[in-house]
Amino acid sequence: MTNLSLNLSESAAMYPDHPAIRLDDDVLRYTDLDDAAARMVTLLREYGVQPGDRVGLMLPNVPEFAIVFFGVLRAGGVAVPMNPLLKRREVEYYLADSGARVLFGWHEVAAEAEAGAKAADAQLLPIAPQEFRALVGEREPAELVSRDGDDTAVILYTSGTTGRPKGAELTHAGLNTNQAVTARTLTKVGPDDVVMGCLPLFHVFGLTCGLNSAIANGATLTLIPRFSPAKALEVIQRDKVTVFEGVPTMYAAMLGVPNRDEYDVSTLRTCVSGGAALPVEVLRGFEQAFGCIILEGYGLSETSPVASFNHPDAVRKPGSIGTPIEGVRMRVVDENRTPVQPGEIGEIQIGGHNVMKSYWNKPDETAATIDADGWLSTGDMARQDEDGYFFIVDRKKDLLIRGGYNVYPREVEEVLYEHPAVAEAAVVGIPHASLGEEIGAAIALKDGTSATPEELRDFVKGRIAAYKYPRAVWIVDELPKGPTGKIQRRDVVVPEGVLR
Ligand code: AMP
Repeated sequence: MTNLSLNLSESAAMYPDHPAIRLDDDVLRYTDLDDAAARMVTLLREYGVQPGDRVGLMLPNVPEFAIVFFGVLRAGGVAVPMNPLLKRREVEYYLADSGARVLFGWHEVAAEAEAGAKAADAQLLPIAPQEFRALVGEREPAELVSRDGDDTAVILYTSGTTGRPKGAELTHAGLNTNQAVTARTLTKVGPDDVVMGCLPLFHVFGLTCGLNSAIANGATLTLIPRFSPAKALEVIQRDKVTVFEGVPTMYAAMLGVPNRDEYDVSTLRTCVSGGAALPVEVLRGFEQAFGCIILEGYGLSETSPVASFNHPDAVRKPGSIGTPIEGVRMRVVDENRTPVQPGEIGEIQIGGHNVMKSYWNKPDETAATIDADGWLSTGDMARQDEDGYFFIVDRKKDLLIRGGYNVYPREVEEVLYEHPAVAEAAVVGIPHASLGEEIGAAIALKDGTSATPEELRDFVKGRIAAYKYPRAVWIVDELPKGPTGKIQRRDVVVPEGVLR
């Protein structure tokens, strides 16, 4: 018998007056958050939510996210976090697919939330901070509903390796173990820590490594609703942030802040990068500029998310995603799902407590992703070295084939990041009559620097096999990004006539 929200109650019993969640001057203490979650249960019951029912959350990084999230779990419900930028059709899809009958929607996106909820025959509860807290405060606190470890706590929508978004069912035990392991043994988060909450809470990385880990360990999570590198540096200084968790583009962006030396970030003790490959040059540059190490981890929504990590007490290998965390197994397999030798490239498979139960209501997709022995196929290509460290080569679906030769975009991007003017790089395929695909690169430059496309092309040409360097390079203001800030290669627009 368990419930992920017990972590909140336990932290509240130990550190009642300690700040749990902060958004600028708005501070929720542990006792406030726990009390609000208990009263949320009554509100949810009024809306007909019973144990096992799904509840949508369409909220940005605000303290109300934590109130609703822990309230839903405490009531025995299943939280379905959604990007607040979704449009009505998407809202309808998520609600209809998950069968959620109630949606908590941030007031600023109420129009889309309402239209989507209506179409899915669900009720919308719009959230404006003052009114919402008063509404919750008027309810009576209610007891926690106990769940089994294998019961679903959260359904997280993800595209997985193919197709329309599918709901990954993450369990109370899976999430709890994962956050306990990552936070206590890997990042060593405790009550003296202030954790940066700039990753979106509706995404697995921010939800688990940010919110859940902080709350389970009595730390303070300081929120930034919309990431900007200057704001992040300001908040690190203001709140004396000790642990920063982000995707690689965030580290690259902070490194690119022209007056970065003016911020006092000396309280930072650990940075964690995940969600996408951290270019080695960005890791080195950031560590040199800010004096704080970055530990890279790897995982997926389907694995709650952390599967491997550069363990703090082990040898760290830049460019590697480290080794599996406790209780998790990982291997590299060929197309027949047979393990390959160290050094050979294949697909990563993951097994263990962190692997999702299934894709919600999608038995065929689940069976295609998790085999009978519990191995989940990730679609990520990697090799393992003799010491057991994994190195991601790229995603299977991003592999480019130029004239019959395999080119992994990441390898080309790593070289581009070595150029001092490059802030962000995305290598993509351009359809080509005889070669099938030609290699192209979209580049965003660091503020105050300059470089021509020809210069960048020649820079790579001198450092990599001839079939891999980008024949077409073009400069953009910014690269397309997903909700967490990950660069989305598939959304890169190739300018017409760029291949001459
Ligand atoms: P998501 O489910 O949105 O968290 O995306 C999971 C995907 O992010 C994985 O399948 C990988 O392709 C990618 N990913 C996560 N961490 C890393 C990493 N450290 N290096 C390279 N790719 C990563």
